[in-house]
Amino acid sequence: MNFQRVCILGSTGSIGCSTLDVIARHPEKMAVYALSAQTRMRELAQQALVHQPKVVVVPDGEAAKRFIAEFGSTLTLPEIRLGEAGLIETASDDQVDTVMAAIVGAACLAPVLAAAKSAKRILLANKEALVTAGALFMETVRQSNASLIPIDSEHNAIFQCLPEDCRQQIHSTQPPASIRRLLLTASGGPFRTTSLDSLPSVTPEQACAHPNWSMGKKISVDSATMLNKGLEVIEAHWLFAMPADKIDVVIHPQSLIHSMVEYVDGSVLAQLGQPDMRTSIAYGLGFPDRIDSGVGALGLTALGRLDFEEPNFERFPCLKLSYDALRTSHAACITLNAANEVAVDQFLQRKIAYLDIPRIIANSIDKISGMNTPELSSLDSVLGVDEASRAIAREFCHTVA
Ligand code: NAD
Ligand code: MG
Repeated sequence: MNFQRVCILGSTGSIGCSTLDVIARHPEKMAVYALSAQTRMRELAQQALVHQPKVVVVPDGEAAKRFIAEFGSTLTLPEIRLGEAGLIETASDDQVDTVMAAIVGAACLAPVLAAAKSAKRILLANKEALVTAGALFMETVRQSNASLIPIDSEHNAIFQCLPEDCRQQIHSTQPPASIRRLLLTASGGPFRTTSLDSLPSVTPEQACAHPNWSMGKKISVDSATMLNKGLEVIEAHWLFAMPADKIDVVIHPQSLIHSMVEYVDGSVLAQLGQPDMRTSIAYGLGFPDRIDSGVGALGLTALGRLDFEEPNFERFPCLKLSYDALRTSHAACITLNAANEVAVDQFLQRKIAYLDIPRIIANSIDKISGMNTPELSSLDSVLGVDEASRAIAREFCHTVA
């Protein structure tokens, strides 16, 4: 692998910070070329002072002023680019070899498509791009011959368990005939054993208290509802060209097996490791080599056991909604994601209750399914359904608030 110049989209987030941690361990192999953040300009400036990127991307002129003030004047100021146009320009910049796509939500879609068109090596942490525009994104990767390595720990685990030719050809349209099914593991989140009667009154703090992983707030709530696992089923469908009925979810509370591939001969290959995203990130940055991630050894004997359970759709209606959306239509998948983003935001602001999240998603999908959505083969058409879904979900939020 040649020296890599890395652009981190969403560098102040949980994945962004872990990526910086791994990059800093390998100054002879890689360096940061660009950083981006939507908020928290002080943190962005601190990152820029340490990692000295050539470019930073911030949302607007106001944020640029705050960034400059926080950066001070001891070092040369990086070039500052603004907004979505700045993200797109940076993701497709000639100077960039590798793009870490770690912006949360649908805002990552346009920049990551730009990275794919420019044949970058894409480390895809963001899952919403595949959920909302999987066909378009994978087709763009195919056409440009970009290289794509999934970073979401489950998909990274599956990627690691695939035969060599599949890893080189991840954008193939055919599922490998040797694979019987994919097994996505899920921790079950903080409410795996909470009594169903208590779920109506759980708080954002409880929902964000993930037992094993430390993550951003939105994805933590998604882990509690298991909508996160639902998005991952859709993500796996697009990444590995697998139909919904060949993707199963298994609850594995210890989060040490990150996912598995079952082959036609009955073999099941699993990837294990501590629940620390730096393992997936280092795998992506080092591929095809393995590099130090800073993650320690797995103390299997200290743990003693690995448990598995079937997910219960009554406890986790968002998981069922996700399978249904994947089987129903592309528009339903876009609405699943968009309505969830709206509902989770409202839940985090304490405007709606935890169990309103699946209700709002279900109602929004019903409403969109009754509408005539055009063929969704362009970014604009995808964003159109995304916008319409958000508006519908916001209305439903008002009615329950
Ligand atoms: P986070 O909320 O911690 O960070 C998000 C980053 O994106 C921040 O830098 C933020 O400034 C930036 N951002 C937010 N909104 C933006 C916008 N509208 N435009 C531009 N930038 C914006 O999120 P995270 O937990 O790091 O997750 C990032 C992505 O990776 C998500 O899609 C998530 O689903 C996925 N992912 C995260 C984890 C994890 O362990 N955190 C694991 C697997 C997948
Ligand atoms: Mg995951």
